[in-house]
Amino acid sequence: MLKVKNITKKYGELLAVDNLSFEVNDGEIFGLLGENGAGKTTTFRVIMGLLEPNNGEVLLNGKNIDYNVTDEIGFVTEERSLLTKLTVQEQIEFYGTLKGLTIEEIEKRLDKWLERFEIKSYKNRKIKELSKGNQQKVQFISAVIHEPKLLILDEPFTGLDPINVKLIKEAIIELKEKGCSIIFSSHQMEYIEDFCEKLIILVKGKPILEGNIDDIKENYAKKNILIRGNNLEINKLNNIKGVISINKVKGEYEIKIENKNVAPKIFEIVKEWDITKYDVVEPTLNEIFIESVGGIHE
Ligand code: ATP
Repeated sequence: MLKVKNITKKYGELLAVDNLSFEVNDGEIFGLLGENGAGKTTTFRVIMGLLEPNNGEVLLNGKNIDYNVTDEIGFVTEERSLLTKLTVQEQIEFYGTLKGLTIEEIEKRLDKWLERFEIKSYKNRKIKELSKGNQQKVQFISAVIHEPKLLILDEPFTGLDPINVKLIKEAIIELKEKGCSIIFSSHQMEYIEDFCEKLIILVKGKPILEGNIDDIKENYAKKNILIRGNNLEINKLNNIKGVISINKVKGEYEIKIENKNVAPKIFEIVKEWDITKYDVVEPTLNEIFIESVGGIHE
């Protein structure tokens, strides 16, 4: 289990991470979200022991993160760190031996990964000859070749096409199922929604929303009602107290309401209409994110 306790990191006067705490259990995927400059990379650097925090501490299974536990961690950093003149095999052998694996073991594991990521034919090609997406897969393999207990992924999906996002996602889920704790950062909500259980949204280094995704959505008061039907007198709904907005999206109306108590008032009216659909749905994480982040800027 990873425990991040009250970490604060300043660069001169700039407060990059402000008293941040969270825990990631074994076999859990944790998302660190935020806009550019929110403090995600700084948090990762503190966790990996590359930056000394001004305050707070990080514990992996009860121990401080220092040289003795680095073998238990794998990471893909934002700046990526491939040695581009090496071949894929040389690159992974380099990282694998640093982590104490034998060449034999590395070979065995590497072949499995290359097969899985559909890049077997690139094994003896130089990294610089690979496409960006394939380089990213090699980067991922180098982070997991030693089967770490904690995997830290800074924007792992950036620049990947949907097929490769899926391949990496599936690999992450499999590692989670084997008990690995995984933290990843993103500013793209669609990568989070169906994928990680817990998250924190950082704004200017401060957590502004945190917890289990389902709870966050449920506790978020605003809901959406989706209505589809014939000859709807939709303007009548504008006068109901608690209706925030009404938009037509792909042939149906999306009505944003202040809280779930507004829904029955709307239903009272629309039940008389010729409706083919009436659904009360949770807002998307993207909506919650935009609203939370927007609120802070105001
Ligand atoms: P991005 O999504 O753009 O990578 P981030 O959420 O990872 O952003 P950080 O890179 O952690 O954010 O940056 C947090 C803040 O700290 C930003 O204001 C950034 O300009 C500042 N910062 C980061 N690294 C340094 C540094 N080495 N020296 C001074 N300021 C820094």
